[in-house]
Amino acid sequence: MNELSEKPVNVKNIQQILDANDGARMRTWLSICARCGLCADSCFFYLAKNKDPRVSPAYKVNATIGEMYRRKGNVDREFLKKCYDIVWGQCTTCKRCSSFCPFGIDIATMISTARTVCWSQGVVPEGLAKSSDNYRDSGNQMGMATEDFVDTCNWMAEETEEELRGISIPVDKAGARYMYTVNAREPMFYPQDIAMAAKIFTVAEEDWTMPSTGWDCTNLAMFAGDRALAGQIVRNMYNKAIELGVQKIVITECGHAYRSAMFEGPYLAGYQDGKPPVEIIHSVRLFYEYLRDGRIKIDPGKMIEEPITYQDPCNVSRNGGLWEEGRKIMGYLAKDFRDMSPNRDHNHCCGGGGGFIPMGAEFKKRRMESGRIKAEQIKATGAKIVVTPCHNCFDQVRDLGKEYDLGIKVVSFKELICEAMIIPEKFQPLAGDDAEGGEE
Ligand code: SF4
Ligand code: SF4
Repeated sequence: MNELSEKPVNVKNIQQILDANDGARMRTWLSICARCGLCADSCFFYLAKNKDPRVSPAYKVNATIGEMYRRKGNVDREFLKKCYDIVWGQCTTCKRCSSFCPFGIDIATMISTARTVCWSQGVVPEGLAKSSDNYRDSGNQMGMATEDFVDTCNWMAEETEEELRGISIPVDKAGARYMYTVNAREPMFYPQDIAMAAKIFTVAEEDWTMPSTGWDCTNLAMFAGDRALAGQIVRNMYNKAIELGVQKIVITECGHAYRSAMFEGPYLAGYQDGKPPVEIIHSVRLFYEYLRDGRIKIDPGKMIEEPITYQDPCNVSRNGGLWEEGRKIMGYLAKDFRDMSPNRDHNHCCGGGGGFIPMGAEFKKRRMESGRIKAEQIKATGAKIVVTPCHNCFDQVRDLGKEYDLGIKVVSFKELICEAMIIPEKFQPLAGDDAEGGEE
């Protein structure tokens, strides 16, 4: 928790947040729950805690936001500290429980409101508070300067010239068909992810650009309960797309970025109709379209022979509706695809969502404990490779692989596609080409 967490509770502020969220939905959800317990087995935290009733979705809601409303916001610091443990450490807002509740009660939205109350009083994990500061200062969660981002794009274009003739990474190209947005971890720690996307766009002969601002499509403020900042983050992206006059915004292989840009962002940014002002497409859909339409062709000799499984990111599959696309891509790439059970929109959260990974070391132990359900799912497939189009899933599954000795490699679709796609002759390097040979 940050330093604000020891100051006196601002009850008026809490009451304002509760009043703003006291619509028909919230009142119905709070009054209709029959305590039937049907949601309990759907929650991986509950399963991993050997079915401790205090970790069931209904209990978590009742003990936090339910209690806040019952007390009309008149809560003390001690109560908020109890909430801290539940709203940040026992729910990833994955929304799996809602699909098992006979009334469709949206536990995740209620927990998110409790998070907003906690955030307003500084009862927020340090890692999330820090990322909010970075967004405010620089427009991205890593605090990266614009010039460093543009330099990274140019550097990656130069690095790949040797492999792919004519490759470029255009920045701020007005009127491009697609504006490609990334997770700030990519330019900061995994710049090769940008290079791989550029290779795919080049081979598909796509008209694309990267924006110099509004390029970080992540929105940890959405998970931190900081709704004003979350709205600003998504507005930065929308406004840049409008300024450039692009047709669509492409979201990198990231789950919550898609949830933010496509579903929650419009409301957060003030679009009352709930529609983003520019069309949004997730990479998993775009890559599938490239393969389906023959714009990217896979070398049959490079198809993956080892058993491979697919981790459905909650915000791509269950909350994004794109559970078939990943499996269709697997059909082009893999000879021995093995689905997890359960899967698709009913797959379990990896245990790293909802801001859990950036919450940092404080939550690592319980992240590993609650991830046991995912580890068991993966182990049961016998897969040696796990593919997932989400950075949080990627990190969590990689950590679980070490923790539970799963003997797996975790990969993105970009990586698999780049390894197996046929490079048309016109993009193959000419004999004698060197690193300085290409021009943008
Ligand atoms: S939203 Fe997910 S993590 Fe939260 S209570 Fe429901 S199933 Fe559990
Ligand atoms: S399934 Fe729905 S009604 Fe039953 S306990 Fe869970 S939230 Fe309440």
